[in-house]
Amino acid sequence: MVAKGRAAGGLCPDCGRFSDRVHDRYQRRLKDLPLAEQGFVIRLTVRRFICGAADCQRRTFAEPFSGLAAPHARFTKRLNRALERVGLALAGRAG
Ligand SMILES: [Zn+2]
Repeated sequence: MVAKGRAAGGLCPDCGRFSDRVHDRYQRRLKDLPLAEQGFVIRLTVRRFICGAADCQRRTFAEPFSGLAAPHARFTKRLNRALERVGLALAGRAG
Protein backbone atom coordinates (compact mmCIF):
# COMPACT_ATOMS: atom_id res chain seq x y z
CA MET A 1 0.00 0.00 0.00
CA VAL A 2 1.22 3.48 -0.83
CA ALA A 3 0.37 6.25 1.67
CA LYS A 4 1.25 9.79 2.62
CA GLY A 5 0.31 12.28 5.33
CA ARG A 6 -2.63 14.60 4.76
CA ALA A 7 -1.93 17.21 7.44
CA ALA A 8 -1.21 20.73 6.21
CA GLY A 9 2.03 20.80 8.20
CA GLY A 10 3.54 19.82 11.51
CA LEU A 11 4.69 21.12 14.88
CA CYS A 12 8.40 21.38 15.54
CA PRO A 13 9.25 18.90 18.31
CA ASP A 14 11.67 21.40 19.90
CA CYS A 15 9.92 24.78 19.81
CA GLY A 16 6.34 23.66 19.07
CA ARG A 17 5.81 26.12 16.25
CA PHE A 18 3.76 25.11 13.20
CA SER A 19 5.44 24.79 9.81
CA ASP A 20 4.14 23.86 6.38
CA ARG A 21 7.42 24.62 4.56
CA VAL A 22 8.46 21.29 3.02
CA HIS A 23 12.22 20.70 2.89
CA ASP A 24 12.10 17.28 1.25
CA ARG A 25 10.36 13.92 1.25
CA TYR A 26 11.55 10.39 1.88
CA GLN A 27 10.10 6.90 1.82
CA ARG A 28 9.50 4.73 4.87
CA ARG A 29 8.73 1.07 4.57
CA LEU A 30 6.51 -0.25 7.37
CA LYS A 31 5.50 -3.86 7.78
CA ASP A 32 1.92 -4.26 9.00
CA LEU A 33 -0.33 -7.15 9.99
CA PRO A 34 -0.90 -9.64 7.15
CA LEU A 35 -3.91 -9.15 4.91
CA ALA A 36 -5.54 -12.26 3.41
CA GLU A 37 -2.53 -14.25 4.69
CA GLN A 38 -0.16 -12.11 2.64
CA GLY A 39 2.56 -9.88 4.02
CA PHE A 40 1.47 -6.27 4.05
CA VAL A 41 3.86 -3.36 3.60
CA ILE A 42 3.04 0.34 3.76
CA ARG A 43 5.24 2.51 1.58
CA LEU A 44 4.86 5.80 3.40
CA THR A 45 5.98 9.11 1.96
CA VAL A 46 7.14 11.32 4.83
CA ARG A 47 7.60 15.07 4.50
CA ARG A 48 10.44 16.83 6.26
CA PHE A 49 9.47 20.36 7.27
CA ILE A 50 11.64 23.40 7.87
CA CYS A 51 11.47 25.06 11.27
CA GLY A 52 11.96 28.73 10.46
CA ALA A 53 12.03 29.98 14.05
CA ALA A 54 15.18 32.04 14.59
CA ASP A 55 15.52 30.95 18.21
CA CYS A 56 15.12 27.21 17.49
CA GLN A 57 18.17 24.93 17.20
CA ARG A 58 16.34 22.46 14.93
CA ARG A 59 16.46 23.14 11.20
CA THR A 60 14.15 20.41 9.95
CA PHE A 61 11.80 17.78 11.36
CA ALA A 62 9.86 14.88 9.90
CA GLU A 63 6.08 14.72 10.06
CA PRO A 64 5.05 12.32 12.79
CA PHE A 65 2.84 9.29 12.28
CA SER A 66 2.55 8.57 15.98
CA GLY A 67 -0.72 6.64 15.63
CA LEU A 68 0.82 4.32 13.07
CA ALA A 69 4.42 3.69 14.12
CA ALA A 70 7.16 4.94 16.43
CA PRO A 71 9.88 7.14 14.92
CA HIS A 72 12.43 5.04 12.99
CA ALA A 73 10.37 1.86 13.52
CA ARG A 74 10.12 -0.67 10.72
CA PHE A 75 6.91 -2.29 12.01
CA THR A 76 3.55 -0.66 12.69
CA LYS A 77 2.45 -0.41 16.31
CA ARG A 78 -0.26 -3.03 15.85
CA LEU A 79 2.18 -5.51 14.28
CA ASN A 80 4.56 -4.89 17.20
CA ARG A 81 1.73 -5.59 19.69
CA ALA A 82 0.86 -8.83 17.88
CA LEU A 83 4.50 -9.94 17.90
CA GLU A 84 4.78 -9.11 21.60
CA ARG A 85 1.71 -11.27 22.35
CA VAL A 86 3.19 -14.19 20.38
CA GLY A 87 6.51 -13.79 22.18
CA LEU A 88 4.84 -13.71 25.60
CA ALA A 89 2.56 -16.66 24.82
CA LEU A 90 5.53 -18.79 23.72
CA ALA A 91 7.85 -17.52 26.47
CA GLY A 92 10.29 -16.16 23.91
CA ARG A 93 10.55 -19.29 21.75
CA ALA A 94 10.29 -18.79 17.99
CA GLY A 95 6.75 -17.80 17.05
ZN1 LIG B 1 11.61 24.64 16.00
